[in-house]
Parts: sequence; structure tokens; C-alpha cells
Amino acid sequence: MTPVPRGSCTVVVGCQWGDEGKGKIVDVVAREAKIVARYQGGANAGHTVHVGGDEFVLHQIPSGVLHPSVRCLLGNGVVLDAKQFFREYDALVARGVEVDGRVGVSARAHVVFRHHRAVDRATEEVAVRTADGSEIGTTGRGIGPAYEDKTGRRGVRVADLLEAGAEGAVKRSLNRARSRLRALGADPAAAGDVEEATALARRLGGVVADVGREIDDALAAGESVVLEGAQGTGLDVDHGTYPYVTSSNTTAGAAAVGAGIGPTEIGTVTGVAKAYATRVGNGPLPTEFDQAMDARMRKLGGEFGATTGRPRRCGWFDGVVAAYARRVNGLTGIAVTKLDVLDTLPEVKIATAYRIGTRVHRTLPPTVGALTAAQPVYETLPGWQSPTAGARRWRDLPDRAQAYLNRIQEVAGAPIVMVSVGTRRSQVIRLA
Ligand code: IMP
Ligand code: MG
Repeated sequence: MTPVPRGSCTVVVGCQWGDEGKGKIVDVVAREAKIVARYQGGANAGHTVHVGGDEFVLHQIPSGVLHPSVRCLLGNGVVLDAKQFFREYDALVARGVEVDGRVGVSARAHVVFRHHRAVDRATEEVAVRTADGSEIGTTGRGIGPAYEDKTGRRGVRVADLLEAGAEGAVKRSLNRARSRLRALGADPAAAGDVEEATALARRLGGVVADVGREIDDALAAGESVVLEGAQGTGLDVDHGTYPYVTSSNTTAGAAAVGAGIGPTEIGTVTGVAKAYATRVGNGPLPTEFDQAMDARMRKLGGEFGATTGRPRRCGWFDGVVAAYARRVNGLTGIAVTKLDVLDTLPEVKIATAYRIGTRVHRTLPPTVGALTAAQPVYETLPGWQSPTAGARRWRDLPDRAQAYLNRIQEVAGAPIVMVSVGTRRSQVIRLA
């Protein structure tokens, strides 16, 4: 018997501040996969996928769910909003997507309760009220408080919730949240109650899974696996623009930990980068446009948050961030998305360095102070001013669009493996 060669494991990770179009890229690569698993984040993510004339916005269930043969898993590194999870589950079923038996949640994933969301919102409200500059502009989905409980070793995991006597642990978690709400001057009733918190426990029993083991088995059988990142490199709690970050490691190294496999399993890391920069929420965006250009790009790109509906801030492509993302994720390739959004511009710019005071920096500085002071050094290229939405091969792209993309891969230091030119599944150019 000849041994089956081990399957391939690809990580798809955001190179900027989230909303790079990872959902679309995962949807494309998921076609060949047996499993798509998320490894961090929670319902703060917003992945939009277009299939036929339909639009699906997913927050908690991986984008791979729209391929009938793919099993979709949430790894231990995810914080699970069970209410949102089943809301999406039921909505997918109502729209004719076969979900039963196709989704699984790690027993080790921590649970996000209503009280986490209440504390998240109350913390932000206090920051706004006191105008002390500590407002992060979170999605209000309870992500920070849930990860605080996890690292504080007082969280409740899916497996804990399914055990007899889970109410005790939930009650302790709830009581801590209530006193925190009181301290923040918020209504402790916003935390909800134990009954509400445990209501979905029984249903979770039907989807609980050993995610790391399932992935290992699939790889052993020669199948391919995709690990789907949420948010982006700039929002990573270690590598991002701290403290204006999310509360998890979004970068590729976290994929192994958060899915429950070893790092040597990962073969390919595809970084998704929008053809320009966007950011939703507070924090530095060094290449941010002036007001007029910002409004123009937001309209051209439809840049409104999929989770919160907030307008996204827009800017030129930041090559410093892209090169940094190449390094901290070990990117083997880049998928550039929304190239078509730039089709009408007379010129396009790429930041290749930052000037801070008298010094030129080619990597991301660690403090908000330095990032705010950073003046991008731009390279200006002529715009292509012709439509790219119909391009399916590299040679279909206008020469000037090719030149722009070539410069992006040089600056980032990794080859472009995919270019997306529209929201539809078919609107993609595959180069590898
Ligand atoms: P949190 O993850 O809700 O705590 O929010 C922290 C920061 O990350 C805020 O700036 C959010 O706007 C941002 N953020 C969180 N999730 C996403 C996402 O999926 N896309 C874009 N930004 C996000
Ligand atoms: Mg998003």
C-alpha cells in the first residue's frame, strides 16, 4: 500500500486592518478544501460573500459554508457567540443552505455571553463620555471582555457549558460582569441572566467537535484544509497598532494554536490585501485620504462595515504595512482585492516608507505616537482608467494596472497569487 501524501494546509490572513475581502478569497480556495476552520476572533468579523445574485454576510460561521462539501469548524482560538452562531445557522438553512452535520465548534472555544457585550459597550461609552482617548471603536460584540476572561483564567468554554453544574461557572462570570458594569456606571441588568446564558447549551452539544483532531485526520487522508483568519495584521494584539487593535492574534502564527494543530502543518500563507487601505474604528491610518478623496473612495468601494455599518476610513495602499504583513505572517503569496474600485482614478499612490521627524522608516513603528506622526513617502503611478471587472487572466488587465500590481508585490516582498476584480465568485484572476 502506498502511503497517501499529507494534505495541504493554507492560512488566509488579512494584511491590513480587516475587511480586505478574506471572505471572498476563502470562498474561492474553499472549493478545493475538505475543511475550512476559523482560528481566532468572534462575531466581530464580517465576511461578505456573493453567490449568484445572493449576498451572504457571515460573522461567526466560516465563509466556506457556501460550498456544500466543505466542513466548517470554529477552533479553540475563537470566542463563540452562540446566539449569533445559531442565528446564522438558521438563516442559512432558511435560504436553502444545507448546514446540518457540516459545522463544528471546538470544545475548548470560549463562550461570549451577553454580559461580555454589555461590558464592551459600557467601557466604550465611558471612554466617549470622558473623552480620555481610550475609545477603541470596537464592534461591541464582547470580544475584548471575553478574551480578558480567557487569559484571566475565568472564562467558560463550550465544554464547560455542556457539563453538569455549568450554571455555577456562568453565575460567577455574570456576577463579575455585573460589578464591572456598576463600576462603569452602567445598568447591571444589561448583563442578562444565567437562564439566558445557558439557554443555547443544549444546542451546542449537537455541534461540539474536536477541531484539531478533525484537521489532522483530514491532512492524514491527503485532503486540503483552509484556516480562515478574521480581522487583519494591523489589528493583531501583538503586531498591530496597539492599543487600537482587537484582543486576539490575527496573524498566521496564531492559526496553528487557534485551530489545534502544529505549525509544521502549515504549507501556504496567503495574505489578503485590498488595492487601497481602509480602517473602521479608531487608531492610526498613516495613508488616510483627505476628506474629499475619502468620501469619493468610500462611495466607489462601498466602504461601510459589514458588522456595524460604520463608514470605513480610506487611504492609499500602504506598502510599509504590506511588507510588515509579509514578515510577521511569513506570506507565501498575496491576494489583491477590489482592484476594480481604482479603475476611474487618474493616478494611484503606494506608500513605500514613513518619514517621522528627520528619519525614514521602512517598518511599522510600535507606538501610536510615532504612527500618528508618520508622513508617508509616496510613489505615484498613472491610473489605468479602464474597467477591470471583466478580467479573468493577467493579460486581460491594462498595462498600467499590471504595473501597479507589480509594484505592490515588489514593495511587499511576496508574489501576487490572486487578483479580485469584483464581488462575484467568477471575478478573480488566479496566478498560482
Ligand atoms: P473589537 O474586535 O470589536 O474589540 O474591535 C477592536 C477594533 O478592531 C476596532 O477598531 C474594530 O473596528 C476592529 N475590528 C474588529 N473586527 C473587525 C473586522 O472584522 N473588520 C474590520 N475591523 C474590525
Ligand atoms: Mg469585514
